[in-house]
Amino acid sequence: MTTIAFIGLGNMGGGMAANLAKAGHDVAAFDISQAALETAVGNGCRAAESGADAVKGAEAVVTMLPAGKHVKAVYTDDVFDNAEPGTLLLDCSTIDVDTAREVAEEAGTKGFLMVDAPVSGGIAAANGGTLTFMVGGPDNAFARAEPILEAMGKAVIHAGESGAGQAAKICNNMLLGATMIATCETFNLARRLGLDLQTFYDISSKASGQSWSMTSYCPVPGIGPQSPADNDYEGGFAAPLMLKDLKLAMEAADSVDARTPMGAKARALYEQYVAHGGDKKDFSGIIAFLEHGESR
Ligand code: NAD
Repeated sequence: MTTIAFIGLGNMGGGMAANLAKAGHDVAAFDISQAALETAVGNGCRAAESGADAVKGAEAVVTMLPAGKHVKAVYTDDVFDNAEPGTLLLDCSTIDVDTAREVAEEAGTKGFLMVDAPVSGGIAAANGGTLTFMVGGPDNAFARAEPILEAMGKAVIHAGESGAGQAAKICNNMLLGATMIATCETFNLARRLGLDLQTFYDISSKASGQSWSMTSYCPVPGIGPQSPADNDYEGGFAAPLMLKDLKLAMEAADSVDARTPMGAKARALYEQYVAHGGDKKDFSGIIAFLEHGESR
């Protein structure tokens, strides 16, 4: 059993903290939302009065926060001055690579071991303990982080030094955003060319156009395995979160002078989709926007 402080009990963090408690860890939970905190207590965590209170006496600290500015604030205001040096710090939020590296460097100078460990998988995977973690940080930090992350996920992969977890996450999601758009516009074209879409799927899913967006998450209702398309594009991976990740990818590309024209186009299209009805839809719902210019 490890004493773990968990800060950020939202859509993702709530289920993750519950899985740590279920695995037998002593979880001191904190969120600025009282409702989120109460749910965590109902799931076996104990309530801390503040972030600072949660990290006192903890052997590990897990954070699952919205964005880089929240991560920086929580580590600067709550964690660094109140946790014991030597405590393992795990930030599972999706944030920009530069902030991840900056916070990890400060953690190192203050005597902490830190990993960035963003996740692939949505709310269902967080609740079910089947997330994939992409981890950046030194070998000794990864070795200590692995068993804690395994209690919340099905795969834990060491991506490299600090920031490498965030880099892997945004590279993967930039690829996903671009392939989803390409898959959607291809189905729209196939329909206009008079192809039966099931027949086109049967061909392309076994041919060189195949991708995860097509065969695991088909954006056309009734084709391929069950996906958000079969539920009016509800649930799944929300379009605003895809837009967030594409913005992070473009910032990262700028910072290293990488040319990513497809990523830039994907970002622009998701920006338009989110502004035209996609704000509460799954990211595959962009198929209707591409066809008609607005969400259904
Ligand atoms: P969320 O907004 O539901 O949860 C964030 C929580 O952090 C909220 O409950 C909020 O009250 C809390 N919080 C904010 N500032 C705080 C502070 N100073 N102290 C304590 N608590 C604070 O977000 P989410 O959907 O759980 O996502 C969390 C992270 O995971 C994000 O970085 C997101 O990009 C990433 N992510 C989300 C998904 C998804 O499907 N939701 C999938 C993969 C990755």
